[in-house]
Amino acid sequence: MDRRPPPATPAAPADGSLVRARWDLGPDTEILVLSDGVARFDGGAMFGVVPKTLWSRVTAADDENRIAVGLNTAVVRTKTSTGVRTVVIETGFGEKLPPKLAAIYGVQARLPEAFAAAGIPLASVNTVINTHLHWDHCGWNTRFFDGGVRATFPHAQYFAHAGEIRHGRAQLERDGISYVANNYEPLLASGQMQPLSVREGEVYELAPGIAVELYPGHTRQLMAVHIRDSASGKQACYISDLLPTTAHLPLAWTLGFDLDPVRTIAEKKRFYTQAIREGWLVLFTHDRQTPGAYLQPEGHGAKLLDVPHPGLQP
Ligand SMILES: [Zn+2]
Repeated sequence: MDRRPPPATPAAPADGSLVRARWDLGPDTEILVLSDGVARFDGGAMFGVVPKTLWSRVTAADDENRIAVGLNTAVVRTKTSTGVRTVVIETGFGEKLPPKLAAIYGVQARLPEAFAAAGIPLASVNTVINTHLHWDHCGWNTRFFDGGVRATFPHAQYFAHAGEIRHGRAQLERDGISYVANNYEPLLASGQMQPLSVREGEVYELAPGIAVELYPGHTRQLMAVHIRDSASGKQACYISDLLPTTAHLPLAWTLGFDLDPVRTIAEKKRFYTQAIREGWLVLFTHDRQTPGAYLQPEGHGAKLLDVPHPGLQP
C-alpha cells in the first residue's frame, strides 16, 4: 500500500482563491478544485442528529445559525492520444435562484470566474457529471439566456443518474424543493444530458480514467466519481454528499438532508475501507478549507492522514 500523496504542485493557491487546489495524480491526470464561492447552510441541517454543542466546536455558526460551506467543483484534465480531455464534476449554486433564496444561502455565483482564473474556457469542457441533482450541485449546468436557459458548457456531454431524474420529477413533500428543473430538464430535452442507469455495486467507466459508483444514503442514487491515472495507478474520489466536509468524518455525523442516514453510515464504512486501503485522494464537495485530503483509520471510521496538504500550502 502506498499512502503517499502525489507531489505538491508548483503553484499552490492562496486561501480564498477561486482555484482552491491542484494535484497531479500522475503524468496523465491533473485535478483542480474550483469554487463557486462560499455559501451559508443551516448548521443543524448540515449535522443531522449531532447536537449544536458538539458541531459548533468544529464549525462556528452565524447569528442565523448558518455555517460557511464551500461549493467545490472538480475539474479533471487527462492527456489522451488526441489531446486533453476535460471533465467537470458538479457545478455549484449557479445564478438562477430567486433573490430571497440567494440572500439566505449567500450566493456568490463565482464559478465562471474560477474557470477564467484557471484558464479553462467553458467551451473546452467535454464532460459534466452531476453526482446527484440537488440544486447546490448542478446550478451552473445551465444559465439564463434570452428569457430561457442554455447549457453553460456548450460542447459538453452531461451525465446524471436516471433515478435522480425520476426522483426530482416526482417532487416529493420531503425534498421536492431540492430539485430545480431548469438545471437539467432543458439538457435532457435537447439530448445534451444522458441519464445513467448504473446499479449498486457496479463501477461504470464514463471516460478513460473516470468512473462512477453508487453510494446510497443521501439520495438513493448518489454517485461518487472515481479518477484514476493510468500511468501512476493513483486514484482520487469525489465522494460528494456522502462525506461533504472533513467535519463529517465521524460515522454518525451525517447530513440532516440524508434520505437514509443509516445507509449513509454503512456506505461511509465501505468507502473508508477502500479509500484507506488504496490510498485515495478524497475530494470534499462542501469543505471550504480542505478540498481534498488522504484518510487513515480511526476506530470504525476515519480521520485525516497527518501529512502536509499539498493543495493548500501558503
Ligand atoms: Zn445533496
